[in-house]
Formats: sequence, structure tokens, C-alpha cells
Amino acid sequence: MTYQVDEDGFYGQFGGAYVPEILYNTVETLRQSYRPIMESEEFQAEFRELLRDYVGRPSPLYYAKRMSQKYGCKLYLKREDLNHTGAHKINNAIGQILLARKMGKKRIIAETGAGQHGVATATVCALMDMPCRVYMGALDVERQHPNVERMRMLGAEVFPVETGNKTLKDATNEAIRDWCQHPADTFYIIGSTVGPHPYPDIVARLQSVISAEIKVQLQQKEGRDYPDYLMACVGGGSNAAGTIFHYIDDDRVRIVLGEAGGMGVDTPMTAASIQIGTIGILHGSRIKVMQTEDGQIIEPYSISAGLDYPGTGPIHCNLYEKGRAQVLPVNDDEALQAAFELTRLEGIIPALESSHALALLPKMSFGKDDVVVLTVSGRGDKDMATYLKHKDEIRYDAI
Ligand SMILES: *Cc1c(COP(=O)(O)O)cnc(C)c1O
Repeated sequence: MTYQVDEDGFYGQFGGAYVPEILYNTVETLRQSYRPIMESEEFQAEFRELLRDYVGRPSPLYYAKRMSQKYGCKLYLKREDLNHTGAHKINNAIGQILLARKMGKKRIIAETGAGQHGVATATVCALMDMPCRVYMGALDVERQHPNVERMRMLGAEVFPVETGNKTLKDATNEAIRDWCQHPADTFYIIGSTVGPHPYPDIVARLQSVISAEIKVQLQQKEGRDYPDYLMACVGGGSNAAGTIFHYIDDDRVRIVLGEAGGMGVDTPMTAASIQIGTIGILHGSRIKVMQTEDGQIIEPYSISAGLDYPGTGPIHCNLYEKGRAQVLPVNDDEALQAAFELTRLEGIIPALESSHALALLPKMSFGKDDVVVLTVSGRGDKDMATYLKHKDEIRYDAI
């Protein structure tokens, strides 16, 4: 069995490309060109050089000694938080802008929630001298002001979206509308393993550098190139897809992912679409989505803006359905506790999203020789206001 995308753009029953007629040619051209371009020597050389000299790759695989003692295993952290711009998103943004240039596109658009993908896209547009418009829900523009300022300083136009709940889903709708109006000259850089085929496959391949590096680094540190467990958080699914890419068909490796439980999956304040979603079509893809019986999207909630999306990409929907990956909900309070724990035990302040992966650790029972690799998808600078607001709720005696 393989868990990779099939000829028609599906992962089992998930995925596909449900796009309006006007985008058909654009998406079809992308589908036919992405693999030849991305597999070309020229693309690979340019991509690798930028990952090394601009992003700072390979990112370290850090043996977390005190955390290992606490959880009774050998815990390694894959440090995507040390990348330029502070998260894994830059790997994908660089790859997609190279693809856009090879396809002769002149203009870049993107959507963003917390602003991390917007900042990554604005960064590569500055680097490549391309005009850039980032769609962002008006509420997120208010909540994530430092990232808005960063994007503007980088030369991007930030377009506040006033429709719906004024968050990520609405920004994505608006970006798709723009794309429909300028299909010929515009490249839409999508920030996660979501959207119509071939986007989930493009993003997974670009992020697969994460697991390619893990293989080499584990071989050096452990004398074998695979772990017993791989762990990551999942919003749309890109850092998780990159973490597992080269291990997906290796059943020696167990995959455990954390999605945003919010205030709890049995409350209306959640974003755990794998647990409570049903099959529907969102942003061009057949996935599990939080919706009412008549197909209205239910607004998601999570303390972490990067996980606050009402669906999960098709790759992970399929892995969950086939039993290949375990996906557990992690609530706001558990993620906060995990963030302070990593900070106090290892001196690393993680992004709130990444804290949802760290909060899986107390839910596991490892053997003491188990090798566990957990991806820290980003750093916590952007989340300082939230951490400070909640610092008195943390149980320091439990750390
Ligand atoms: C955007 C983001 C995520 C969630 O996106 P995925 O596509 O699921 O990886 C996770 N961590 C960080 C730091 C992010 O910025």
C-alpha cells in the first residue's frame, strides 16, 4: 500500500481538484508542469542552495536530554524554529516562488492566518523582486499586527478581508477570487498541504527536506536512519507531511500527530476537524471539514492562529482513515503547559502550534530505548503576548 497521491490527485478518497471552470487551465498547466520542473537539476540546485545559505539548513536534530529523562525515551527535536523567518513555512515559499518563475508568472498572491505564511511569502517576493499581495482576515490583521508590519516592510501589500468571520478561511476565499480574475499571470502560493491537487503534493515534496535531513542525522546519531516515533502538530498538514514524507511507507515508524482541540472536542470551541469533521469540499479539495448537516462551515477555534482552520489536508485525512497515523486532539491548556515545559527544561520557546505536538508527550507511553523525533515547527516570538497572558495558569510544580 502507498500513501502517496494517485494519478487523479487523490489520497484514498480525499483530495482531488474541485475548481471553478475559469481556473481549470491554470490548475491543469500546473499539474502537468510541477514534477518536471521540481525534479529538474536546475530547480534542485537553486532550491538546495537557498535552503542552505538563506534559510540556514539543515536544521539541527537536537537531543533533548532533560525532556528525554522526563518522558522515558530518547527524544530528538527537529528544529524548524531556527529557520529564517522562524518556521518551516519558508521551505515551501522558496520552492513555490522558484516554480512560479520557471512558469513565467509575474505576480504572487497568498493567504495567511497568523501571518507566518504571509511573512514567508513576502520574504521570498522581496528576494526575487516580485509584486506580492497577501490576503488576511481583518480580524487577524488586528490580532497579528507585528506580522502585518513585517509583511509591509518587506514590500508586500496586505489586503484585509472583511467577509465572513474575517479569518483564514475568508482570506483563502478571497485569494481564490483574485486567482480567478488573473489566472494567466498570477501564481497563488498556498501555505499548507491544502487546496486543489497538485498543491498538497507540491507542498509535501517541498517540505520533505525535513524528513530527508532526519534520515541522515539519525544515521549519524543513532546508527540507524529511522525513529520509532515521529510526532508533529497538524493544521493544514505541511510540517507533519514534511516530517513523515520519507517514512510514510515504513511501518517500523509510528506516526502520532496533534490537532487543535481548543477548549475541548466536545465543545463548540474547537478546531479538531479530524475528530469531528465530516467529508466535504473546502478550497478545492475533498477533506474532513467542520460543517453543519446542510454543509455550512462551522467556525473553528484554537488558541493557536496557525491551527485555526476548519479542515485538515487530504494526506492526513487518508493516513488517519487507513490507521497509518494516530491523530490526537490537544487542548489550549495542554499546549500552554507544554510550551512552558519546553522553555524551562530545554531553554527553547516554541510556537503555540508546535506546543500542540509537545503536548502529545504526556499522552504517550514509550519504552526507554524508543527513538522519538518531534518537529518543533516554529519559534514562539510571535506568541509572547499569549504566553504572558496565561503564565499564571501554568503548573510550575508539574514541570
Ligand atoms: C502555519 C504553522 C503551522 C500549521 O501549519 P501546517 O501546514 O499544519 O504545518 C504549524 N506550526 C507553525 C509554526 C506554523 O507557522
